[in-house]
Amino acid sequence: MQHEAAIIAGAGPIGLACAISAKRRGIDPLVIDAGALANSIVRYPINMTFFTTPERLEIGNHPLVCAGAKATREEALKYYRGVARVAGIRVKTYTKLVGAREVETRLGRETISWDKLVLATGYFDHVNKLGVPGEDLPHVRHYFDEPHLSYGLDVVVIGGKNSAVEAALQLFRAGARTTIIYRGTTWPKSVKYWLRPDLENRIKAGEIQARLGSQVVEITPRDVLVRGALGNEERIPADRVYPLIGFHPDFELFKRMGIAFDPATGRPVINQETLETSVPGVHVAGSVTAGTKISEIFIENGRFDGEKIFGSATERQRAQSLYQGITRETGE
Ligand SMILES: Cc1cc2nc3c(=O)[nH]c(=O)nc-3n(C[C@H](O)[C@H](O)[C@H](O)COP(=O)(O)OP(=O)(O)OC[C@H]3O[C@@H](n4cnc5c(N)ncnc54)[C@H](O)[C@@H]3O)c2cc1C
Repeated sequence: MQHEAAIIAGAGPIGLACAISAKRRGIDPLVIDAGALANSIVRYPINMTFFTTPERLEIGNHPLVCAGAKATREEALKYYRGVARVAGIRVKTYTKLVGAREVETRLGRETISWDKLVLATGYFDHVNKLGVPGEDLPHVRHYFDEPHLSYGLDVVVIGGKNSAVEAALQLFRAGARTTIIYRGTTWPKSVKYWLRPDLENRIKAGEIQARLGSQVVEITPRDVLVRGALGNEERIPADRVYPLIGFHPDFELFKRMGIAFDPATGRPVINQETLETSVPGVHVAGSVTAGTKISEIFIENGRFDGEKIFGSATERQRAQSLYQGITRETGE
């Protein structure tokens, strides 16, 4: 059986940052990822640009240089690949942690042991579902891909937060007849200041249709059945449907590992100073620590977590103050 001093599950920005923290203290961790390196960024919409300025996406003080004011998906992927290479991080991709001391690869299951395990597994693999009939039909997509694919189609976006609003705007601009359905009666305050007026103006001009205070009842191959606040029902034609209503961490993995978490918030119970969970030697880092409040922890404020896990008491304190110094900008 393979034994490692430290395993980091998740080769996202925070898992890689943790690996750098470990290496700088003489520990050579193995980083495993269920998908590719930085798999969550791989699954971002293809033409996406980060809202965070580049220096706040940096890990281990490696500079992120990009052509414009903000990094694109492509530039970020190049950056995290480059950091993994120059920092000499051992990464095993397509290797999923499935339970206590068990990983799954293309070739089957293997047992593996460790002195310290860090779960930096994020939330992006687990979409929130509406729980309505038709949600798993092939034209329903829980990840926003490329707006171009929807040219000339009737498209329904479900959700009212940044991802849904941004998708609706991009779809409209790519020539889709776009309707956005949101259960709230007003757009949430967290919608970015540059997206909100754009959306409101498109709605006012009749370029994007919106149904606020509305619930989706059913999705069929042809349309989406929606119930309004007054109980009125309407069928909105849809060739393509994007429910974009958020994500959550892998609670089943928490359970299999015996990690205690708050069922109301989905947050693992942790020692705030060391990020150790209820299972001794098992820590969490990055966005997985936020439970269902996924708009609380980003790259910019999760990237110091490795210092808390692998650092000394002084380094932990420094990481805590850096973390507190960063505004918790809301978004997803
Ligand atoms: C469209 C979009 C735009 C965003 N823009 C910004 C931004 O501008 N600024 C910002 O700071 N944040 C932004 N975010 C959020 C940011 O992507 C996340 O906060 C960040 O990816 C979290 O990093 P992480 O390393 O904690 O998790 P992730 O990046 O999600 O990495 C987790 C990794 O764990 C792997 N994994 C999952 N389960 C397992 C398992 N069981 N075993 C092994 N590996 C596993 C996954 O494959 C993944 O690679 C954005 C998110 C989206 C969707």
